[in-house]
This record gives sequence, C-alpha cells and structure tokens, in this order.
Amino acid sequence: MTVLELRNVTKTYKMAGGGTFQALRGISASFNAGELVAIVGESGSGKSTLMNTIGGLDSDFGGEIIYEGKNLAKYSTQELVDYHKKSIGFIFQNFNLIPHLNLLDNVALAMTLSNIDQKEREKRAKQLLEQVGLGEHIYKTPDEISGGQKQRVAIARALINDPDMIIADEPTGALDAETTTIVLDMIKDIAKSGKLVLMVTHSERVASHCSRVIRIDNGKLLDDVEQEQVQFLS
Ligand code: ADP
Ligand code: ADP
Repeated sequence: MTVLELRNVTKTYKMAGGGTFQALRGISASFNAGELVAIVGESGSGKSTLMNTIGGLDSDFGGEIIYEGKNLAKYSTQELVDYHKKSIGFIFQNFNLIPHLNLLDNVALAMTLSNIDQKEREKRAKQLLEQVGLGEHIYKTPDEISGGQKQRVAIARALINDPDMIIADEPTGALDAETTTIVLDMIKDIAKSGKLVLMVTHSERVASHCSRVIRIDNGKLLDDVEQEQVQFLS
C-alpha cells in the first residue's frame, strides 16, 4: 500500500539578501507501508529540508506530496497542522523531551485525539512506555535517565497517535554503538508493524539495516536502492 508519494518536489529558500537557494531540485519517489527507508547524503544536501517538507512544517514547496491519496499542497494551514500533529510520529537526534515533565506526561501530552480523557491517555502512554522497556521509570524526569532511554521515550511518544508514518532525523546520532543497536531494533520493529519509517542517518552501519536507501545530493535524488538482504545487528 502506498503511503507517501513525492512528485517532482522542489523547495526554494528566499535568502536574507534577496536571492534564492534551491534546496530540493525535483525529488520523486513512492513509499509503501512497512518500509524502513534510510535518507543519506552529505551535510547540506537537503535531507532536513526534505523531512521538514514531508512533515508539514513548510507549505511553501513545489511539486506534489501525496499522503494517503491527498495532496499536501492543497491543504489549508489548519489541515497541515493536523497532518503534522496526528499523521506523523517524529523522532529527533536530541530527543526533544520536555525537561520538567515526567516520562508519562511527556508521552501522554503528545496525544492529540481529543475525544479521549486524561485517564485513558495516561493508560496508553503507560502501555507504550512499558513496551519500550521503561515501565519502571514513568515518574522520572528526562534528566534522570540515559540517552538511550530518552530515545525510547521519544519512540513511545512518536507512537501515541498510532501514525502511519514515522520521521526520524538522526535518531541514533547522539547514541553509542550499543544503544544504537537497541534503538535501531525498535525502529525496525515499528516498520515491521506496518508503518512507513523515513530515517535520516549519517551512519553507514545504520543505513545497512534499512530496507531501502535513498541518497540525496545537492537537492537531487542520486540513488534509490532496495536492499533485499537486510543485515541483522551482530
Ligand atoms: P542537510 O539536512 O542534508 O544537512 P539541509 O536541508 O539542512 O541539508 O540544507 C540544504 C541546503 O539548504 C543547505 O545548503 C542549507 O544551507 C540550505 N538551507 C537550509 N535551511 C535554509 C534556510 N532556512 N534558508 C536558506 N537556506 C537554507
Ligand atoms: P558509522 O556508524 O558507520 O561508524 P558514523 O555515524 O560514525 O558512521 O559516521 C559516518 C560519517 O558521517 C563520519 O565521517 C562522521 O564524521 C559523519 N557524521 C556522523 N554524524 C554526523 C553529523 N551529525 N553531521 C555531520 N557528519 C556526521
């Protein structure tokens, strides 16, 4: 099932001095449910711009982004905000947890479905925290847990609205090799459960575990390779 389709997507930044810079130069690709896609490329090649555009952070792009059959370019601002909040789970390199909230609240707060009461939210947040192995730590704050544990909280948070697509920007970038393995295994499981996962990474090792690798160079799609034999972590 196709979840996301990019048709000749372009993005031009307006520079402070009055000039422009074209960060995306016609990206086309189609993504299915259950794929784990690595987005790789040099610094400045356009990876973050592509993730932000797909993520609904910027409506000022060219071409078409079709998510579950609907063209983002035609969304109103409110529709784009709803899409950003409800349809996608985000995972970041630096976790982006709220420091003064405990883990349970960090996860529960991301729940946007309005017809669910507080008790039910906390129940679901607790279940997800248990699922990522943090059931005993739910009343701790982020500064009381390790980096790997923080990323597991972020994974629980990304799943709270049961989105069909996960966007992960360097999710293992701040983690050591051992913790990377744990987090990557969880991300693989998310894809296995049928979600589309788009993951920016600088790590060849992390990319080698993905079902598909997309290489961006100077705003263009240089390479789009399916990896049949997905390696397993040693
Ligand atoms: P990557 O994530 O691959 O490092 P980016 O998407 O962050 O690349 O950036 C792609 C290009 O767009 C870079 O040349 C960068 O300098 C430029 N760029 C990014 N954001 C802006 C912006 N807000 N205004 C102008 N240029 C930008
Ligand atoms: P591996 O896991 O394959 O050892 P690394 O993640 O350590 O790969 O990094 C691969 C390459 O990407 C290295 O040359 C490293 O310097 C570079 N790199 C890693 N993270 C970043 C980053 N956030 N920004 C820019 N370059 C990075």
